Amino acid sequence: MNIDRPLSSLQEKESSGLRRKGYVNRCLEVGTLDGSTVRFTPEQWQQVRNENWQVINPYPYPMPGIGKMAGNAFKAVGRVVRNIFRGERIMRTLEDKERIIEICKDCEFLRQSNGRCTKCGCTVISDIFSKAQLATESCPIGRWK
Ligand code: SF4
Repeated sequence: MNIDRPLSSLQEKESSGLRRKGYVNRCLEVGTLDGSTVRFTPEQWQQVRNENWQVINPYPYPMPGIGKMAGNAFKAVGRVVRNIFRGERIMRTLEDKERIIEICKDCEFLRQSNGRCTKCGCTVISDIFSKAQLATESCPIGRWK
């Protein structure tokens, strides 16, 4: 399945400093311009994304403090326990998890080096455990639930 990105959103990311200088040109070299949309194969998209993260300042957003992360983890455990007692679902389907991971992969707040979200401090992309697996969790800025 191809990945379509509006040219304007690629330009906005470069001009706001969230992507390296020359990012849009690189996207146009790798992908295919179709009207106002740039179309990528998944491999091409992965390539431009990986290249982008080799920037001078790859971490524009700091991780939350230890206290905030501990508080978030404590609340997350509480939500899991609550759902267990209510007999509600605690795990997402694989499809749902993959949908979320695709959203996070394209998010400027994801720290690519370790797969953690700089908004909540949670691990989002990992082979072992991901916040995206838990039906009790949602994006702290409302990009998925
Ligand atoms: S959980 Fe939300 S803020 Fe964090 S990386 Fe994913 S989409 Fe971005």
